[in-house]
Amino acid sequence: MHLYIHIPFCDSKCGYCAFFSEVNKLELIAPYFTALKKDLLHQLNSYNIKNISTIFIGGGTPNIVDSSYYYELFEILLPLCEKNCEINMESNPNLLKKSWLLELQSLGLNRLSMGVQSFFTDKLQLLERQHNQKDIYYAFDLARTYFDNISLDIIFDCVLDTQERLQTELESALNLGVNHLSAYSLSVDSHSRFSLNNRHDTCSTISYASFVRDFLDSQGLKQYEVSNYARNKKCLHNLGYWSGDEYLGIGASAVGRIGTTRYSGINKIESYIHNPLQKRIENLSSKELEFEAVFLGLRSEIGVQKELCKAEKLEILFSENMIFEKQGRIYANDFFLADSLALYVT
Ligand code: SF4
Repeated sequence: MHLYIHIPFCDSKCGYCAFFSEVNKLELIAPYFTALKKDLLHQLNSYNIKNISTIFIGGGTPNIVDSSYYYELFEILLPLCEKNCEINMESNPNLLKKSWLLELQSLGLNRLSMGVQSFFTDKLQLLERQHNQKDIYYAFDLARTYFDNISLDIIFDCVLDTQERLQTELESALNLGVNHLSAYSLSVDSHSRFSLNNRHDTCSTISYASFVRDFLDSQGLKQYEVSNYARNKKCLHNLGYWSGDEYLGIGASAVGRIGTTRYSGINKIESYIHNPLQKRIENLSSKELEFEAVFLGLRSEIGVQKELCKAEKLEILFSENMIFEKQGRIYANDFFLADSLALYVT
């Protein structure tokens, strides 16, 4: 079983952010963790979970929370973790501390993803991030002492990007020796402050997606999902999602799926603390699950069972060299076209 835990606290809200996170509520961390524990125990018990293969603690900013709050959660989780269980946590460079890294590593954390986003000060400021280039190098040096498995998040398609600048950023990331990058195209999502303020001018009019993919490929980091690149350390948790595995979601706004039931926690911290067991439930039809399998599979190296696609549509895509088949599964030749392909074949 895969497990996602959501930590919805941030020190400030980035302009492009549409994730569920809140600022100026750090006094709610203690009651939030009490609620998380209740939610976790309830779900482990209700679904009779005896084994956990991956844990992803995301946010928000999980490293804004003192390491001591994680003790009780890990105490519950560690006895259920399979050997080599991937335990990943998201983090922001400006808040990473040596003591926090040391304590989380000794608790069992074995993968860290850092929200670097850019190595250029002007771009970080445009994105309304709180850290600067110096913070990135300092945090990365610290993190490297405790973790081999580190992934960096990078944003591209920002109005300040040029091919030369992006290449410099990707080289800066690779020069740190990372084996995994998540590279996301900047978009102005509804509910973000950029959207509310109509800041569509923050996005580039040119797409650099293919450049990012081709450059990383030339440096040995292969694209294995539309936004993810790895040399050898792929994110097992995300591979689980894309494969259609079941997963538990713990925390405010956290989504889980067991069988045909998808559920999500309340997306307001105070309400979640008040009732962590209240979930919004969605019953998925087999058609919806199939479409999800096609959609996620074609965006990644997981691919999709041939039978889930319309045969006559596949023939056309084969003839146009947009897909290939291997052992009864269909794969997109270009993950960036996967969304249109998924709509076309279903
Ligand atoms: S992008 Fe990350 S750090 Fe910024 S507000 Fe959103 S969750 Fe917090």
